[in-house]
Amino acid sequence: MKGDTRGVRFDTLAIHAGQAPDPTTGAVMTPIYQVSTYAQDTVGGHKGYEYSRTDNPTRTPLQECLAALEGGAHGLVFASGLAATDTLVRTLVRPGDRVVCGDDVYGGTYRLFDKVLRPWGVHFSYADFSRVPPSEAIPEGTTLVWLETPTNPLLKVTDIAAVCARARAVGAKVVVDNTFTTPVFQRPLALGADFVMHSTTKYLNGHSDVVGGVVVTNDTEAYTRLKFLQNAAGAVPGPMDCWLTLRGLKTLSVRMERHARTGAQLVAWLAAHPEVEAVYHPMLASHPNHDVAKRQMCGFGGMISFEVRGDLARAKRFVEATRIFTLAESLGGVESLIELPALMTHASIEPEKRRAIGIADGLVRLSAGLEDADDLQADLQHAFDTSR
Ligand code: PLP
Repeated sequence: MKGDTRGVRFDTLAIHAGQAPDPTTGAVMTPIYQVSTYAQDTVGGHKGYEYSRTDNPTRTPLQECLAALEGGAHGLVFASGLAATDTLVRTLVRPGDRVVCGDDVYGGTYRLFDKVLRPWGVHFSYADFSRVPPSEAIPEGTTLVWLETPTNPLLKVTDIAAVCARARAVGAKVVVDNTFTTPVFQRPLALGADFVMHSTTKYLNGHSDVVGGVVVTNDTEAYTRLKFLQNAAGAVPGPMDCWLTLRGLKTLSVRMERHARTGAQLVAWLAAHPEVEAVYHPMLASHPNHDVAKRQMCGFGGMISFEVRGDLARAKRFVEATRIFTLAESLGGVESLIELPALMTHASIEPEKRRAIGIADGLVRLSAGLEDADDLQADLQHAFDTSR
C-alpha cells in the first residue's frame, strides 16, 4: 500500500500496514531477509540496517503492522510472549517498585514475576480486578498494573477503562495482555492502557507454527527505552518467524469471526449439557461481568473453560478421549486444542493458590479452531460418552 494509512480500516491494515512491494525487486509479499549483517558503503554508511538483532527488514513490517492493528504508534516484537513481558517489565520497573497483577494470569507470566522478578526486588501483589474495585486493588505507590482480560483460564473480565483511570490517578502505567481477544475484538490502548502485549504464538500468528511476542504503545519515550532493551538483551525473533506471523495476520479477522461463531455454538451447547458443572465464558448472560464484556469487546473469540461433572480422573479421561481436539497446551491456532490447566498450562502455580483463584482440578480449557463446528461438538459428546 502506498502512502499514509490514516483512516484505513482494520482489514486493510492487516494486509497492507507496514508492507509495500519490496523496493529492490518489486516482490509483492515481504521477503524473508534471512541475514544477520548488512554491507556498509562507508563506515557507518548503511541503508537503515546494520545487524539483525537491532533491526531486520522482515521484522520491521511486522512491527509496523501489529502497531497499526492495535491502534498504536510503535510496535516491537520478541522471541516469545514471555520475552516481550520480561523486556517490558524490566523497562518499566526497578527493584523496590510495586506491581499489581491480575490474580488469574497465564501461569508462565506468574512464574516470571514470582520466580525471576520478585527475587530481583520487585514487589508483586495480585488482585481479582473483575471483582475488587480499582481504588482498592491499586494502592498509591503502584508503578505498574498488569492485567489479562478475559483471563486465562477462567475468562474473568476486567473493566479496562476503570483500571486505567485509577492507575493514572496514582501515576501507574497499565499493560493489557490482549492475547485471548486480539485487536479484532478489543483495543486496550483506545480504552486508556499504556501498553498492549500479546503472545503472537496464539491467534495473531494463528497456525501453531511460531513462538513470538509483541508490545505496542503510543508512549514514544518508553518505546525508545524498550527498543534499547530489545537490542541490548536481544530476545528477538528470526526473520522466518516474522514472515510467518506477518502472513498469519492477513487472515486474522476472518479467522477470529469463525473462532467466535464456533465458540458461541459450543458455549451454548455446553451450558445446557447435563455433564457440565459450570461454563466460563463472557458471552453468557450469567457471566459476572457480561455487561463490561459487551461494552469493551465486540466479539468473544473461541476460548472456553468448563468443569466436567466428576473428579480430576474423569476430567483427565475426558480430555484424553477427544479425537479432533488435540490434547495440547497453547491456543488460537486453526486446529482445536483441549487441556487441563491444573496439570498443564497452570501447573507452575502452587495448588493452594490455584484453587484459591478458582481453577478447579477438573477445569477443562479448550480453544475452538476452524474445523466444522458440528464435528467439534460431536467430538466433545464422544468424549463425554467414553470418559464416564
Ligand atoms: N500471555 C498469555 C495469555 C498466554 O496464554 C501465553 C502463553 O500461553 C503467554 C502470554 C506467553 O507467551 P509465549 O508462550 O509466546 O511465551
